[in-house]
Amino acid sequence: MLLSSFLVAKDLIRNNKYRVLYERLVGSKPMLKGDSVQCACCGYSFDSFFTYKAERKVALYASNIKIQKLLKVLLPHLNKPVYKLENEVCPVCFSLGQHRHLFYYINELSAEYTCEASDVKLLHFAPEQFMKDFFLSNKNIHYYDCDLFRRDTLYIENITKLSFQDNFFDIIICSHVLEHIIDDITAMRELLRVLKPNGVAFLMVPCNVDNTIEDPQVNTAQRRLAAYKQTDHVREYSSDDFINRLSKVGFTVNTSCVDRINTNIVNKLRLRDSIFICRKNGSRI
Ligand SMILES: [Zn+2]
Repeated sequence: MLLSSFLVAKDLIRNNKYRVLYERLVGSKPMLKGDSVQCACCGYSFDSFFTYKAERKVALYASNIKIQKLLKVLLPHLNKPVYKLENEVCPVCFSLGQHRHLFYYINELSAEYTCEASDVKLLHFAPEQFMKDFFLSNKNIHYYDCDLFRRDTLYIENITKLSFQDNFFDIIICSHVLEHIIDDITAMRELLRVLKPNGVAFLMVPCNVDNTIEDPQVNTAQRRLAAYKQTDHVREYSSDDFINRLSKVGFTVNTSCVDRINTNIVNKLRLRDSIFICRKNGSRI
């Protein structure tokens, strides 16, 4: 009962319906006091972030999301994590290290993109609520959010066949999507096509290996979990290979790595992963 209530509450908070109430409650709990870490997304400080429990094995038993949630509640022993990341999840907005890195980076750039420019068209795949709130609150940004499966986005889009016209968006944010896409090269071409010549795409994927792991024979949830650590990933990129693929379709790629950011900031905000900053060849860098 406690678990099901938590899952329902978490969904409501993700949908922003009770976020203000939740923030007040969390902010009043002594266990969440402290200032050892700070969330770049919601601004709250804590002694530490929560532990992230990656990929729940219950996903192996059902492909339907609703049935997965039901199994998690009814059969919690199936719900063992494959691996954990300590000090990772923000207790208030549920951001992870990669979200905080992207948000920190975009926040640093936001003056350039929002003060001088107007009617900035921004395409956001699989949007995180706190980023959605941030962009929607900016009157200069024309915000387009999309997803293939979710129903809480304005657009339902297949990333390998986007409905938008050529050279349409100033900014594209696509984080932790391409590792799910079998034909990622076509998806990259589509991102390039809809990006304006002077636009920028912020792309993120997990890059935890030196050489890309990708095998068409790995085609079941069980095999993908074993090979790529998630049941719905179809490869694990190396950073170099991801840049090569993007370059081949016509992007010029710069990278924001956490090791180039001040260590105190990285540790305080618990930033993680690299951001691949992609522009069309020949555009300004
Ligand atoms: Zn937060």
